[in-house]
Amino acid sequence: MIFNMNVLKNIELIRKDFPILSTKVNGNQLIYLDNAATSQTPNCVIESISDYYKNLNSNIHRGVHKLSQLATEKYEESRKKFKKHFNARSTSEIIFTPGTTHSINLISNGFIKFLKKDDEIIVSQLEHHSNIVPWQMLCEKTGAIMKVIPMNEKGELDLNVFATLLNDKTKVVFVNHVSNALGTVNPIDIIIEKSHNAGAAVLIDGAQAAPHFEIDVKKLNVDFYVCSAHKLCGPTGVGILYGKKEWLEKLPPYQGGGEMIDQVSFEKSTYADLPNKFEAGTPNISGVIASGIGLDYINKIGLTNIKEYEDYLLDYATSKLKEIDGIKIYGESKTKVSVISFNIGEIHPYDIGSVIDNLGIAVRTGHHCAQPIMDYFDIPGTIRISFSFYNTIEEINILIDALKKASKMLS
Ligand SMILES: *Cc1c(COP(=O)(O)O)cnc(C)c1O
Repeated sequence: MIFNMNVLKNIELIRKDFPILSTKVNGNQLIYLDNAATSQTPNCVIESISDYYKNLNSNIHRGVHKLSQLATEKYEESRKKFKKHFNARSTSEIIFTPGTTHSINLISNGFIKFLKKDDEIIVSQLEHHSNIVPWQMLCEKTGAIMKVIPMNEKGELDLNVFATLLNDKTKVVFVNHVSNALGTVNPIDIIIEKSHNAGAAVLIDGAQAAPHFEIDVKKLNVDFYVCSAHKLCGPTGVGILYGKKEWLEKLPPYQGGGEMIDQVSFEKSTYADLPNKFEAGTPNISGVIASGIGLDYINKIGLTNIKEYEDYLLDYATSKLKEIDGIKIYGESKTKVSVISFNIGEIHPYDIGSVIDNLGIAVRTGHHCAQPIMDYFDIPGTIRISFSFYNTIEEINILIDALKKASKMLS
């Protein structure tokens, strides 16, 4: 793959924006390859949080005083940024939550209102536990039945089977855009269209997609799209939930409290308009503001440049990894992002993870909150490396040497 070296030249400058990248771990320079779990935080985001508490700290939406007004403006400014970024029709379609997991629970709980016994809902075999368990809880409460879109050896979903699962009992389909365990990019445009033709709503878990490429919710015609700011260079504790206005109006609120009401009396309370209806209580104000700054940072680099560079890292790392004796890579879909899951021979992934951690290399080992995928391959877990735009070819070379060393030591 040919790569535009102009972007590469900027990598050293970009890395300077992330103070943690110059940290030493176990006496070695940190090599951070666990970006699918959380991305690192640039200075502008760290400064935004500190600036908020130094200069702006106050509660939003209800204060007449100046700081409250300024904080409210910044909080709402962040909503406008995400609205524009995902191409939502209106800011009332963007809800801030504590994260992807919370967003999925918010939606699945709301669906109690729309499901009855023997209705059907569809998940995929490629899901993160956060897009499985809340829906199982929904089935327990309603008597609805969960069906599963199976995957193949390459880690791709079987759309022919999916077509046979859809019928007039199907009420909602929920799949991820990108698998966090294998990196597969799923054909969600087809899944959305087929689901809609069957009369079902669709939720897309975009936690792993949003950091890697552009997403247009209007073009996708998706009903719900969710992701987490902490994988988008933002802080932890902020989720972005896009919902079509028609759906958000129909869904009941998830939590009751301040901010989400219009009128309250002991006989009856009425709910606030969108988006406040779903934002009960004091939100993570500094986090939401800083998430908008993180999004600006990503957009300054540009998701098209990010995708191109990460694809280059992915290709390079994949071919280098294949030179290691006994390596097996799980999930080699033609469409995938910069996530690679693998094992070396019979060595337990945790053992390799520990050896290379001693060398300062951060990878993830285990089932990656996706046990059904591990069951498919009949393994307890994998080693997962996941790249961001601030990773480099040199880091991959060091990783490969470390893996070879670890493999020799442990086999
Ligand atoms: C990280 C992740 C989640 C969970 O996100 P939280 O921020 O932990 O709530 C869900 N789905 C996928 C695909 C993920 O990668």
